[in-house]
Parts: sequence; C-alpha cells; structure tokens
Amino acid sequence: MDADLVVVGGGLAGLVVATEVAQRGKRVLLLEQEPYLGGQAFWSFGGLFLVDSPEQRRLGIRDSVELAFQDWMGAAGYDREEDAWGRRFAEAYLEFAAGEKRAWLASLGVRFFPVVGWAERGGGLATGHGNSVRLGDPAVPAEHRL
Ligand SMILES: Cc1cc2nc3c(=O)[nH]c(=O)nc-3n(C[C@H](O)[C@H](O)[C@H](O)COP(=O)(O)OP(=O)(O)OC[C@H]3O[C@@H](n4cnc5c(N)ncnc54)[C@H](O)[C@@H]3O)c2cc1C
Repeated sequence: MDADLVVVGGGLAGLVVATEVAQRGKRVLLLEQEPYLGGQAFWSFGGLFLVDSPEQRRLGIRDSVELAFQDWMGAAGYDREEDAWGRRFAEAYLEFAAGEKRAWLASLGVRFFPVVGWAERGGGLATGHGNSVRLGDPAVPAEHRL
C-alpha cells in the first residue's frame, strides 16, 4: 500500500499513466475492478489511429494532420465555448498520432500488421462525418482532399 501514485482503472488510459510513472522510478498501484486488464481495449478491434504512417504511404494513401483535423471536426463540431478543451485535446492527439505515437509504441515492443483499414468510416468524404482516407482507393476525388 506504499505507492507514489494510485491509478484507478486498468484501461488504456490507466495503463499508460502507470507505465509512464513507473518508468520514472515511482511506485504505482494500479486498481482494476475486472479480472483482466485493458478495459474496453480487451474487447476492441485493435485498430490504431495513426496519421500519415509508413503503412499508409506504402499504399499510396495521402494523409495529413490537417485532413485528420478536418475529419475530427466534421464529427465533433466543437463550435461552442465549452468545447475549447476538446478541441485542444484533438489538436494535441493528432500531433501525437502523426508524430511520436508509432515510435513510442514500437519502443514498448508493439509491432504492426501492415494493413491500413477504416476507422469510423462515416460518409467517406473530407467534408462530412467520418474519416475521408480510404484504403489504397484513388477514387476519392481530389476536391475532397486537402
Ligand atoms: C468493441 C469495441 C471495439 C473498439 N475498437 C477500437 C479500435 O479498433 N481502435 C481504437 O482506437 N479504439 C477502439 N475502441 C475504443 C477503445 O477501446 C476505448 O476508447 C479505450 O479502450 C478506452 O480506454 P480508457 O482507458 O479511456 O477507458 P476504459 O477502457 O473504459 O477503462 C476504464 C477502466 O477502469 C475500470 N474501472 C472503472 N471504475 C473502476 C473502479 N471504481 N475501480 C476499479 N476499476 C475501475 C474499468 O473496469 C476499465 O477497465 C473499441 C471499443 C469497443 C468497446
């Protein structure tokens, strides 16, 4: 019971916090109510959101932080004053997903199955709901890309 930090919940958020703090030499107590770790990720499809990844580029998919932000806003809106933090989180997360996320996961031993798929497909256009980047599909008209 002698810990520097108590994390309640062993989902991805709790596991990341516990990992980061433990790596800095602190003692972490992780409490989970279920008999397994991972929370929702235990049941998830395992898809990872990466922006302009090597896997995408290998398949000729043009992606960017700007396009991903446009997609995110197409679903979330974030046009009210109280949405300011949500918007800032989106901006920070997209920078992470386009930057250190892949290398950070790889440093933890995560390896990638070289398949690019749809995450929240939605309408399939950059101007509407959902992600606009398709798997190797050059049929998305240029005017719907940034
Ligand atoms: C079927 C499914 C498929 C999905 N597919 C994908 C995908 O392909 N790609 C993707 O990026 N995302 C996917 N998601 C979403 C993703 O899994 C979640 O967004 C993510 O796992 C949430 O993590 P979290 O740590 O924020 O919350 P949670 O996973 O909900 O973790 C919270 C944890 O806290 C525990 N807890 C709560 N209260 C207490 C308490 N009082 N005491 C102790 N423990 C407590 C819970 O048991 C749980 O383990 C999917 C989700 C589902 C359900």
